[in-house]
Amino acid sequence: MEADNSRQILSQIYDICDSLYFGMSKARDHSEIFNYLTELGKVLAGADRASFWKWDKRHHELWTASATGTDKIVIPDNSGLVGKALREKRVIVTNDPYNDPDFNASVDKKTGYVTRSVLVMPVTDINGEYIGAFQIINKLDGGFEEERDVRKLSMAALICGIALESETFQEASMRDRLTGLKNRMGFYHDFSGKYSKVLDGSKPLSMFICDIDKFKRVNDTYGHNAGDEVLKFMSSLVESCARTEDGVYRWGGEEFIMLMPDTTLDECVKMAESIRAKLEATPCNAEGNIINLTASFGCCAFDPSKTIEENVSVADGHLYNAKETGRNKVLY
Ligand code: GH3
Ligand code: MG
Ligand code: MG
Repeated sequence: MEADNSRQILSQIYDICDSLYFGMSKARDHSEIFNYLTELGKVLAGADRASFWKWDKRHHELWTASATGTDKIVIPDNSGLVGKALREKRVIVTNDPYNDPDFNASVDKKTGYVTRSVLVMPVTDINGEYIGAFQIINKLDGGFEEERDVRKLSMAALICGIALESETFQEASMRDRLTGLKNRMGFYHDFSGKYSKVLDGSKPLSMFICDIDKFKRVNDTYGHNAGDEVLKFMSSLVESCARTEDGVYRWGGEEFIMLMPDTTLDECVKMAESIRAKLEATPCNAEGNIINLTASFGCCAFDPSKTIEENVSVADGHLYNAKETGRNKVLY
């Protein structure tokens, strides 16, 4: 009986690993890894449900990178047993969660599940910093035993930790630290990912590139820190005008790109014009200095028969002309 059971578990493990291995080459992000590994942890520990949680330290949140049997859950990082495990940097096991003050029963309330036992195993990056946690839960009797079940879960938790660290590095490499916008690498990544479908030409995709006018003068007059404040101000202004489907990128020093799917050149020009006017009408307070700013814009509609670089250089050409013919204008 036990041998049968072991064979069945082993077969499930092989299936999961096999799917993960063959799915990797097609995966565009880490979500499949987390899904399969959560499933693997569940099988290995014989749990009812499993989830892998990311610790978003910047937003003080914990959220599920994957969870069996439920949608994505987001909770504050000072709550729940996952929060406790990360705070206290240790495994947490409870077989009586409703009597544990740290247990967050709100998730049960939402999902209708009645948790009887919980095991949380926090994971670290290569520097020993806690970055996430693997959690298994059961509604069955029997409970978890720390020594026995941590051992069973360790492989899935370890690989989840490595995948999470790698995902975090990848995301960081695509963001500009000063403004928080995606950088040039993020721009190319989005093109091969979320905007790739638009490039078949079935729907219009437009963009503008803009560049702050006489920005060097801001640095020279008010100092580099005030210049940095201006860049943050400009980023927020452009981002506040973008729709959720648009992409805003810091292309270079004081140059920004906005990508607008499903948008004609005409609509793109209108958007650029409204941002130009808003910037002109909104002085920036940079370290106590009130600075009036303007920017120049070049727009284009993507031509799918050209490369991304060729398309960008079309918009860049219009930006160049805007600079040459007096600045603070939108050309296309
Ligand atoms: P134009 O109207 O022709 O665009 O003139 P400009 O002065 O804006 O253009 P220029 O290319 O001469 O100067 C851009 C300046 O942006 C030079 C560079 O020192 C500054 N810069 C680039 N990145 C940063 C940054 O991250 N922070 C700050 N403070 N300055 C930056
Ligand atoms: Mg400039
Ligand atoms: Mg420039």
